[in-house]
Amino acid sequence: MGRLFQPFTQIDSSLARQYAGTGLGLALVRRLAELHGGGVAVESAPGRGSRFSLTLPWREPPEAGPLEPLLAGRTFLVVEDNPVNQRSLGDMLRARGGQVVVAADGSQALELAVALRPDLILMDILLPELDGLEVTRRLRARPEFARTPILVVTALALPGDQERCRAAGATAYLTKPFASRALLLALEHALTP
Ligand code: MN
Repeated sequence: MGRLFQPFTQIDSSLARQYAGTGLGLALVRRLAELHGGGVAVESAPGRGSRFSLTLPWREPPEAGPLEPLLAGRTFLVVEDNPVNQRSLGDMLRARGGQVVVAADGSQALELAVALRPDLILMDILLPELDGLEVTRRLRARPEFARTPILVVTALALPGDQERCRAAGATAYLTKPFASRALLLALEHALTP
């Protein structure tokens, strides 16, 4: 039992062993459990069976932070062509009470922005139809979008990209991949008068 959780270990290590695999499964389980602050244990009786227990800490969710009231009830336009990013951004905002509408390309973004007048726009740059820089410029050209926060969230992270986004009218700039905390701070900053 002492060897069970060691990597590359199988109890039957003969060449004609009965079970396939590299002997990593339980080592990974233990490592992941420990990284979460928990652990894994085993009890076993010959001829009767084995019981594995996985323990993970559970914490009370933190009190609503100052961000929840800031995001709750606001309308967000998420301009993003990648379905995975659409979903993760949308989930993050909805979990804090935001209302989310997604535009999957540049022309849809313009249409939805004009129709919805969102409180904040999250703008991807690499998009089908019109790119996010052009969408940002066209929105800024309309008086009703002079002050709407436009937060660029992009994989473009070359020198000069941030300046190009700001020159097009972006309020703030965040590169992918981002930590959710970084996004929340940027939202807080953009929505605080
Ligand atoms: Mn994109």
